[in-house]
Amino acid sequence: MPEMVEEFNMEKVMEEFERVTKDAERIQRETLEKILEDNASAEYLLNLGLNGRTDPESFKAFVPLVTHKDLEPYINRMLDGDFSSILTGKPITTMSLSSGTTQGKPKYVPWNDELFGTTLQIYHTSFAFRNREFPINNGKALSFIYSSKQFKTKGGVLAGTATTNVFRNPGYRHAMKAIQSPCCSPDEVIFGPDFHQSLYCHLLCGLIFREEVQLVSSTFAHSIMYAFRTFEQLWEELCVDIREGVLNSKVTVPSIRTAMSKLLKPDPELASLIHKKCMGLSNWYGLIPELFPNAKYVYGIMTGSMEPYLKKLRHYAGELPLLTSDYGSSEGWIGTNVKPRVPPELATYTVLPQIGYFEFIPLTDLEGTKGDASFLCMDPKPVGLTEVKLGEEYEIVITNPAGLYRYRLGDVVKVTGFHNSAPEVKFVRRSNLLLTINIDKNTEKDLQIAVETASQFLAGEKLEVVDYTSHIDLTKEPGHYVIFWEISGEASEEVLAECCNCMDKSFVDAGYTSSRKVNCIGALELRVVRRGTFQKILEHSLALGAAVSQFKTPRCVGPTNTKVLQILNENVVKNYLSTAFT
Ligand code: AMP
Repeated sequence: MPEMVEEFNMEKVMEEFERVTKDAERIQRETLEKILEDNASAEYLLNLGLNGRTDPESFKAFVPLVTHKDLEPYINRMLDGDFSSILTGKPITTMSLSSGTTQGKPKYVPWNDELFGTTLQIYHTSFAFRNREFPINNGKALSFIYSSKQFKTKGGVLAGTATTNVFRNPGYRHAMKAIQSPCCSPDEVIFGPDFHQSLYCHLLCGLIFREEVQLVSSTFAHSIMYAFRTFEQLWEELCVDIREGVLNSKVTVPSIRTAMSKLLKPDPELASLIHKKCMGLSNWYGLIPELFPNAKYVYGIMTGSMEPYLKKLRHYAGELPLLTSDYGSSEGWIGTNVKPRVPPELATYTVLPQIGYFEFIPLTDLEGTKGDASFLCMDPKPVGLTEVKLGEEYEIVITNPAGLYRYRLGDVVKVTGFHNSAPEVKFVRRSNLLLTINIDKNTEKDLQIAVETASQFLAGEKLEVVDYTSHIDLTKEPGHYVIFWEISGEASEEVLAECCNCMDKSFVDAGYTSSRKVNCIGALELRVVRRGTFQKILEHSLALGAAVSQFKTPRCVGPTNTKVLQILNENVVKNYLSTAFT
C-alpha cells in the first residue's frame, strides 16, 4: 500500500475535516442552499410553495417534518416508472432498500450519485484517522461483504440495498482504491447469489491469505460474529479443502467455483497448521489473531443493535482492538468515527456538516417519555446542528441530496461533545423500539441490559445467549413481555427459570415495576427457541430483499411482523413464566 498512501492525501482530508467542523453553521447553510438549488424544480418543493428559496428559515417555514409513510405516495410513483422531477430535480433512477428492521419489511428510499459522493466523503474521513493510528502496509482485508442483487421494479427503477448500490456504483472501485486494502475474496464470492456459499469461500480465502490479512471487517459486526460462529462449525471441512486443493462440493455456483479454483492449491502444510491452531484454542478464545497473525484490528459498525455481539467478538478477537466504523443509513450518512481507539461501547460519531442538512428534535424535556417524541409532542421543534446541547438526547432529522427533506430518521442520539463546532453524538436507539404496555417504557438498551444481566446465570454452564428479541403479548389480560432467547446449548430448567426471574427484575423502569407489582402487567415470559432460529429470521429477511451486510436482528417484534413472530413461535422449545413478583 505505499502506492495507496501516495494517492490518498491523508493530511488534506484531515484539514478539510477541521475546516468544515470549525465552520459548521456556515457549511450547513451552504449545504442546504445547494440541495435546494439543485432540486428547486422538484414537484414536492414547488407544491410546498418554496419557490426557489434556499435559506434555512424559509425551508423550515414551508417544508414540514415527514416520516417515510408521508413520502410513500411519491416514492411509489417513482417505483412505478414516473421519471418526472418528483422529489428531486434530476429524476431518481435507483432506489435503496433499507433493512426495515423496525417495521419488518424493507422500505424504498431514493438513491443518487450525490448520495454516493457523501458516502465517499465519510469513508475517506474515517479512513484518514484510522490509518493514522493503525497503518495497514501492503495488506489484505478479510471482508465479510455480500452484495445482493440489484433488480428492476415494474416501472424500471433499479433497486438494491444501499450497500449494494455503493458496491455496484461504477465509481466505487476507483474511489476506494486509494483507501481500501484489497479483499482476499474474488468478486465472484462477494457478488455471489448464495450467502452461505459466499461465506464459506470468504473464510477459505482468508485462510489461504492468512499471512497477508491485516484487517477483518464487515459492514455490521453481526456478519463478523456470524462468520466466526460458522467457522467453529466448518473449520474441519475448510482444512480438508486446503489440504486437497479441492473446493467443497456444497459450493455449487459455477462462477464461484471457477474463481476459487484459481486460488486453491493443495497445501497440506497450511491445512495442518490451521488444524493444530484450532485444536490448541480454549473455547475459541483469540481465534482471529491465531488464524491471522498480522491482523491489526477488527472493523465494522459495532454500536446500537450490534452491541450485544461485542462480547462474543472480543472473545474471538482476543487482544486485537475492535473498531467501530461510521454512522449512517440508507437515507444518508450522518457521522464519522475519527477516534478509532475508543472502544465501541464509548464510541461517538462526529456529524459531518457538508453531507446533508441536519436538524435535531430535543427529547429530554419530554419528561418520562424516554424521549419518544411521537408520543407526546405532536409539534416537535427541531434545533440546528450547532444549536444542540451537550448531554441532551435528540431524534435526528435529515435533509439529503436525494429527495428527503426534513425526514425523521427514527434514530435517537445523545450529544457527548463537539469537534470544533460540529457535534459528536453517541447512537442511543431507534425511537420506536419500545417495550410498552401501559405506563412502562423500556428501550432497546434496557432490554439489552436485562438480557446481559440474566444471561450471567448461563455462564456457569458455559453457555451463552446467541441472539435474542422481544415481543409484547396482548392476547391475554394482562399483557406481558415475551423475551425470546437462542442459547448455545442445553441449559438446565433451574437456571433458565432463574434467568427468567432475573430479566423480569432487571427492567428497573418505575412504570414497569409498579405495574408488575399490581399485576397490570403479567409475568415476564422467557421463550427458548431452537438453535438456528435466528438464522431462519435472517434468511426470511434476505428473501424479502435485505442484504446480509445490512442485517440487524429486530430487537422487538411487533404484531404486524407476523412472519418473524411465526418463525419464533414455531421454534419454541421451552418457556418459563417469571415468579419474581409473586
Ligand atoms: P438501514 O435501515 O439498513 O439503512 O440501517 C440504518 C440504521 O442502522 C440506522 O438508522 C441506525 O438505526 C442503524 N445504524 C447505522 N449505523 C449505525 C451505527 N454506527 N451505530 C448504531 N446504529 C447504526
